[in-house]
Amino acid sequence: MGSGPSPFALHPAARRGGDAKGRGIPPCCLPPVSRMLPTGGAARGGEASVAQFLPPASRTAGGPVSLVPESCGLCPRACGANRAAGERGACGADGDLVVARAALHFWEEPPISGSAGSGTVFFAHCPLHCLYCQNAPLAQGRAGRPVSVERLAAMCLELAGQGALNVNFVTPTHYAPQVRAAVALARQAGLRVPVVWNTGGYETPEAVRANAGVVDVYLTDFKYADAGLAARYSQAPDYAQVALAALDAMVGQVGVPAFDEVDGQPRMVRGVVVRHLVLPGALEDSKRVVRLVHGRFGDKVRLSLMNQYTPVLSAAAQAGDAWAQGVLRRCPELARTVPDGEYEELLDFADELGVQDYFWQEGGAAEESFIPPFDLTGV
Ligand code: SF4
Repeated sequence: MGSGPSPFALHPAARRGGDAKGRGIPPCCLPPVSRMLPTGGAARGGEASVAQFLPPASRTAGGPVSLVPESCGLCPRACGANRAAGERGACGADGDLVVARAALHFWEEPPISGSAGSGTVFFAHCPLHCLYCQNAPLAQGRAGRPVSVERLAAMCLELAGQGALNVNFVTPTHYAPQVRAAVALARQAGLRVPVVWNTGGYETPEAVRANAGVVDVYLTDFKYADAGLAARYSQAPDYAQVALAALDAMVGQVGVPAFDEVDGQPRMVRGVVVRHLVLPGALEDSKRVVRLVHGRFGDKVRLSLMNQYTPVLSAAAQAGDAWAQGVLRRCPELARTVPDGEYEELLDFADELGVQDYFWQEGGAAEESFIPPFDLTGV
């Protein structure tokens, strides 16, 4: 994996101002491309000194028992697993807090990644388990190792010490109490950057409300409008209604998007970005998602329309993975990429609907190089 500039661009007007398709033209409201190049992870401002601030390492991996539920209802699955006793829930998580990577990440939306990078912490397991998951080794728990809450707090401080624009927790839903405890410790120890909650959108309103005062920015998916698609790919036919209720709570909590400036570039410090990944053969559902989210929230959220769907199942099936082969027999459409024309049609639809300042992706985003290695870096 190399560190390239963010594949996202902002504002539909820039798309219309380029070549025939308007692709690859840097939007006028973004900084020059040279300002968007990554720093290569160079530390700025010195290393954070963690140990002197943190309380004695008296907790075991997974944190104190009170942070790990005895009958889990942290996500809408509400499967009731006794994780405190080591039982695994439907998400795959047990009593351990498992992290696979903590590093600067340069491929989020520009005001999240900037040129300095987003301090991204990738957690193992996931409440959704989408068949086409782009981070399958992570979601399936094949990557990562248990850490303590103190170690997670230390990672946050180390990422800030490397110059991260924020701390960005990727799918923290099933570890929410431990993550909030780690943020509290890190803030006590001097963490000042915004906290980003990067989620699949499958959250309960209660879970979102518990983040009040902890989370600054929600980077949340809105995957499907259609219950059939949500059932087919994620076994979550209630996805749309759940995600809408969660969005209501998120917007109510952090408000409209707000930005400050770091090194001459805008950084998002409050607000909600709603991501939608266009799936092969599902253009009409993507339009429904855009209409639904824009109709309900308008400019209160920023939409991010993504064309980086990568048919990772195909590679797995070709390598002999029997599960991937079975999925592709049932859902052969997941072996395709999304044609440029379909993505363009969705962007045109958003333009015609009057969506302002949404993020979109330049051509060639559908590459596995945008999927980071879950190799315990920074853990
Ligand atoms: S977070 Fe995991 S263990 Fe908890 S309710 Fe959801 S699926 Fe079950």
